Amino acid sequence: MYCKNSDHLKEECGVFGIFGTEEASVLTTLGLHSLQHRGQEGAGIVSFDGNNFHSVRKQGLVGDNFNNTNILSQLPGKTAIGHVRYSTTGESKPENLQPLFANLALGGFACAHNGNLTNTHSVKKRLVESGSIFQTSSDTEIILQLVARSNKKKLIDKLIDTLNQIKGAYSLVILTNKKLIGVRDPFGIRPLVLGDKDGSPVLASETCALDMIGAKYVRDIENGEIVVITEQGIESIKPFKNISERPCIFERIYFASPDSIVGDKTVYTYRKSLGIELAKENNISADVVVPIPDSGVSAALGFSQKSSIPFELGIIRSHYVGRTFIEPSQSIRQFGVKLKHSVNRSCIENKRVILIDDSIVRGTTASKIVKMVYEAGAKEVHLGISCPPIKHPDFYGIDTPNYDELIASKSNIEEMTKLVGAKSLFFLSLNGTYKAMGCKERNKKSPQFTDHCFTGEYPIDISEILKINSTNDHR
Ligand code: AMP
Repeated sequence: MYCKNSDHLKEECGVFGIFGTEEASVLTTLGLHSLQHRGQEGAGIVSFDGNNFHSVRKQGLVGDNFNNTNILSQLPGKTAIGHVRYSTTGESKPENLQPLFANLALGGFACAHNGNLTNTHSVKKRLVESGSIFQTSSDTEIILQLVARSNKKKLIDKLIDTLNQIKGAYSLVILTNKKLIGVRDPFGIRPLVLGDKDGSPVLASETCALDMIGAKYVRDIENGEIVVITEQGIESIKPFKNISERPCIFERIYFASPDSIVGDKTVYTYRKSLGIELAKENNISADVVVPIPDSGVSAALGFSQKSSIPFELGIIRSHYVGRTFIEPSQSIRQFGVKLKHSVNRSCIENKRVILIDDSIVRGTTASKIVKMVYEAGAKEVHLGISCPPIKHPDFYGIDTPNYDELIASKSNIEEMTKLVGAKSLFFLSLNGTYKAMGCKERNKKSPQFTDHCFTGEYPIDISEILKINSTNDHR
């Protein structure tokens, strides 16, 4: 949940679960490792051994914390779920690491959540006023509290009762003593796929996690679907009114791993098409196309192929620094940009350079890199961005900052060009973005994606979050 001045955490996460196999926690570790790009601040696994639940949650990377047999021996059992996360506001508290676990009247209940709820404040207030005690500042805890308090008899009915009270974006992976459950919110904003590892069902945020463990992709969990996995098989429940899905377009533009398959294509293919569309819309004379790595590489390849301007690796990225946004404070973030990229002078000197990146958020990366490229002797630096200007914050589980920190929400293109210091700055149009996704055009009445970051059209009401944010701003 996005609360600028509170310790509410905004989460950007990956989830994984596997049912009925030896080494469930080892496979979960591997799955989480391949989802590490979805969150690098902390990771956790809960396993069930037939009698007891076991939980290990650690701050830091999966590979640093779950890489030894000691940890894995703490997570026995044939079923496990896991979570990777990071927060960008408030403190990174260990108690907010997931999966969250509670012993409910019906038995143990562990839940891993990707996405953000939008009515946390009002639900939490109601729960606290009626006696609930919260141990974390994570919005996910309200799910456990609501399940615990539901007066329905069966677990699935308690869960449906809960889903009817929460609003927002959620892909959930839940573990009980008999079931592994996957849930996707009514719009299907965040991803969730079903796979099969030698007969054991798998749930994961992205298909790259299935590839990692040698599991077959079965299908996407549909928007508004609950999938219940037991010894008896897999059951699908659709508790909501049927509505058209609106997955988050930014998953394909930036967030998901390039090798993950969404729809029938890899994310890489979509990103390359974004670059192709960008080149179609912008005819610029230059000597080289240079990606801002890693995020701009696929689009730059597409741009270079379409424009016939040679592709060069003019910026080198250090692989020993994490994603720029990963550090919660702005000072560390800026330092991170400098540490992360260096210029490969041989491709740049005396050249007219087109830099390509997937997006501009605060403008930190772009201005640093444009400056570095000029300092390395470029004659001209143009900057192409393979999506429209991000003018509106996300409240559904991807980290983008508040309006006042989003460069495109405060400045027009001319002002942004000055701010980043480039000779020209160009963005892909919204329709070009939809074309790259394989759509003829954006369906205005019923858009195929949620594209609120560009359009400000939020499919799920965010007024409660905006109200809380403005109250916090005036404190
Ligand atoms: P900024 O430097 O603030 O303009 O951020 C833009 C850079 O961050 C680009 O290179 C993007 O690839 C990357 N980026 C965009 N959105 C996100 C996000 N939600 N989390 C982390 N990085 C992002």
